[in-house]
Amino acid sequence: MRFGIKTLDDAQVKGRTVLCRVDINQPVDREKGTLKSINRIEACVPTIKELSDRGAKVVLLAHQGSDIEYGNYYTTRPHAAVLSRLLGKEVHWIDDVCGPAARAAILKLENGGILLLDNVRFVAEEQTLFEMKLRLTHEQQAKTLLVEKLAPLADLYVCDAFAAAHRDQPSLCGFQQVLPSFMGRLFEKEFCTVSQVMEAPVRPCVFVLGGAKISDAFLMMQTVLDRGVADQILTGGLVGNIFLTALGKEIGQGSVDFIMKSNYGEYIERAKELYGRYGGKIVLPADLAWVTDGERHEAALGGVPADIAAVDVGSETAKIYREAILGAKTVFVNGPMGVFEQAPSEAGTKDVWQALADTQAHTVLGGGDSITATEKYGLTDKMGYICTGGGALIRFLTGEELPVVKALRHGATLCEN
Ligand code: ADP
Ligand code: MG
Repeated sequence: MRFGIKTLDDAQVKGRTVLCRVDINQPVDREKGTLKSINRIEACVPTIKELSDRGAKVVLLAHQGSDIEYGNYYTTRPHAAVLSRLLGKEVHWIDDVCGPAARAAILKLENGGILLLDNVRFVAEEQTLFEMKLRLTHEQQAKTLLVEKLAPLADLYVCDAFAAAHRDQPSLCGFQQVLPSFMGRLFEKEFCTVSQVMEAPVRPCVFVLGGAKISDAFLMMQTVLDRGVADQILTGGLVGNIFLTALGKEIGQGSVDFIMKSNYGEYIERAKELYGRYGGKIVLPADLAWVTDGERHEAALGGVPADIAAVDVGSETAKIYREAILGAKTVFVNGPMGVFEQAPSEAGTKDVWQALADTQAHTVLGGGDSITATEKYGLTDKMGYICTGGGALIRFLTGEELPVVKALRHGATLCEN
């Protein structure tokens, strides 16, 4: 048991049928019928292998694609082929989710056998539109078709899908009402790493917050400051620009126009409040960079020309942030320091990311663009921990109990001991 959830160490799985929800949602090449990336499939191999090696009958539940309008719903058939190759043993697959064919295939499994069902989102109840519209409780989710059809065939439920832990759908939150439930190894690693940062960070604990998801960034800041988790927050990107504007620093009218145009005006007030209360802990950029005609320019605050939008932190700021990161014991990172996608505005992100690679501190990094930057600068192996579950991670850090965490804690109470 860790943080109120049972782990696979607590589970007796031999000869038992285990429903295991994984997140192997990958970009798909629809024309070729292949997957463009397999990193999420690789990440859940340890759990599947362990369950199979320990003699469980393993039934995998997974989604592929978001809601229909995104046009990326797809079968999980290619995933089964990839899994078979990674595991070195056949992973059975069936083009059914919880109908008679799926149930017959589950009943046919032998000890150690693995079956991947088709995309759970082919069942309407699993769709995000359904989730958002109906907001079923976990008790109600236990009465959905998927859970009513599959739970009676199973002995245990395992969730290894931390990346989907902010979703409130039957395959993620319903089974824990009726089956003894556990987290898989990937879920355990991701959830315990971030729980550790929130509950007992090794200090000094520094947050690096940049990027452009302003509402998330402000919720996160509020939570980690109110709870005394963060000793220091280094701001960059649009987050930094909003704080500088709030404090009346001269950062170029173009930057302010950009904030207003993006409807982030209300955050200027919030930034003022937060800074008033926690100013000693919030570090703002000392200089900024902008680009004209493809050329990078830098200036201390006050030196950014009017009509210009600042798109990166300056080199002095990067140096100050580097020192803070090198002196920290824990560093949590979300959001780049600037528009790193373009060469003239990448230096701030590149330098700060290099500091993240060089520090002895335990680094935890999450967010799609933050991970892209890490890959771009070839630093993937140098980071302490890269969280695959961006959305879940951010929701977690805003202080909410994630729906799947809540459900797993309930499912732990149904276990034998
Ligand atoms: P993550 O995906 O890591 O969570 P975000 O999505 O919040 O990060 O932010 C990443 C985006 O923010 C990038 O596309 C980057 O270009 C943009 N960005 C960073 N700094 C600025 C800035 N000063 N002005 C406008 N956009 C910025
Ligand atoms: Mg992003």
